[in-house]
Amino acid sequence: MNYNLKVEIKHIKSIIELKEHLSSRRATLYVGSRTSTVLPYDQLIDNPKEYGFDNELVIGDLSSLPKSMDLDLDGNLVVVGAVSWKEAKEFCLSMGREVLTSPTEELALCLSGIATSATGERCFGHGALRDQIISLKYLSSKGEEKVLNAKDTIVDLPLFNCEENKKVLDAYSSDYKFYEEFKNAPFPRLKKATDLMVGTEGQLGIITSATYKTIPKKNEIYLFIKLPKWEINFKPHLEVFDKIQSFRNVIASCELIDENSIQYLPVEERPAEGGDLLFLEIEEEKFEHVYDELLSRLKLISEEDVFQMNSLKCRTFRMNIPRYIFEVNQKMGVTKVGTDVQVKPHDFIKLMNRYKKWMDDGIRYNLFGHFGDAHLHFNFMPKPEELELCKQKLEDFYIDVKAMNGSPFAEHGIGVLKKKYIKPFYNQNQKKMFNILKDHFDPGNILFPNGYMSN
Ligand SMILES: Cc1cc2nc3c(=O)[nH]c(=O)nc-3n(C[C@H](O)[C@H](O)[C@H](O)COP(=O)(O)OP(=O)(O)OC[C@H]3O[C@@H](n4cnc5c(N)ncnc54)[C@H](O)[C@@H]3O)c2cc1C
Repeated sequence: MNYNLKVEIKHIKSIIELKEHLSSRRATLYVGSRTSTVLPYDQLIDNPKEYGFDNELVIGDLSSLPKSMDLDLDGNLVVVGAVSWKEAKEFCLSMGREVLTSPTEELALCLSGIATSATGERCFGHGALRDQIISLKYLSSKGEEKVLNAKDTIVDLPLFNCEENKKVLDAYSSDYKFYEEFKNAPFPRLKKATDLMVGTEGQLGIITSATYKTIPKKNEIYLFIKLPKWEINFKPHLEVFDKIQSFRNVIASCELIDENSIQYLPVEERPAEGGDLLFLEIEEEKFEHVYDELLSRLKLISEEDVFQMNSLKCRTFRMNIPRYIFEVNQKMGVTKVGTDVQVKPHDFIKLMNRYKKWMDDGIRYNLFGHFGDAHLHFNFMPKPEELELCKQKLEDFYIDVKAMNGSPFAEHGIGVLKKKYIKPFYNQNQKKMFNILKDHFDPGNILFPNGYMSN
């Protein structure tokens, strides 16, 4: 424990308490369920200086804020306070609706999901969360309540009446265009007014409620497909990848779990052995179409390797994999050293070949994630003495990701762990934009003071 630097965890139980704390002007990292993989909470508390907290570390815990859920007349989900994705999903299902975003870690909070621009498996079929937000409310760094609507554009905010700021926004938006197809670019979109809070990791305001688009509940069929190990033969994987792209309107998710990851599960929880598994969530009404036009036409995959699975079992299985892997790392006393890279579809094979280079290093690894979006998490499982080497490997890797024009952190954000890796992805346009936003929304730098928008 670090006794030199003051660490305080403040449990905030009401909006009044939150406003009071804001009025104290103390720089604070506000958090929800603390499932972020880029904010190593235990290590932060033990050694805040290492992560750039120089004076004190105050953690504003929002996980006990009063919560409520409701459906508005259009069937949109209105979330107030500390509602988790699990609660939101269950509530919507009970009302005959479905949420469109589904991070694997269901205990994460819906409002934090906006701050981290959470994605997850259903992004394949339903797109990114930023386009599912109708409106949101936040508290400014001065404690004022503000509302943002998705139908308003950022350029129309008074901040951009000034010609100089507008020029910076134009240049920033022009850079963003290259990344439009990605789930998350290396920097936030900044097009709709609500984008100000999406992926900005709590550096511009504290989100207190939001309205999310939902759809009427549909029945789904869950399938898994057995494939060879990706390291040995990736051709069948690629055949599915190429063909599935035109089925996004009827397949909500397309996820890969490699054989190495499956080994972390107890034997009785493994759906199959001896290869990788691909999971598909298919709209039941369109199943025949998917079967006739996609599954039965795959040349490199036998129909005998396609299996149906119960939805609960599928979800539990998928959620347990990253959790078990996280536990193994915790027992080893190391932080996860993993990737979060997405590339454009035509670069997927380049990315996979890059991952293959790591196979021969003798360090344990596994691979899983959002296969249909060319977005996989490669995780090293280092022994403590291999940790530094893995970190160095990642540094080299991000140079290649930049050369591949990929998005380095397409889902889990930057936090403090990825700050040094993200820097080469920013040019003057992003840096100027971040300064303008921080100066305007948080002039005292009291909201996540050492996030990626600060140097
Ligand atoms: C096993 C596992 C699986 C995961 N799978 C996915 C996945 O599929 N998709 C995905 O996107 N992520 C995933 N994650 C990452 C994580 O769950 C998400 O980043 C999630 O959005 C974090 O939510 P949280 O409530 O835990 O936020 P926290 O970890 O508490 O905070 C995360 C960030 O959000 C900010 N923040 C929190 N609340 C607010 C608020 N009210 N207003 C402003 N800023 C706020 C914090 O300052 C911080 O920067 C996974 C994590 C784990 C451990």
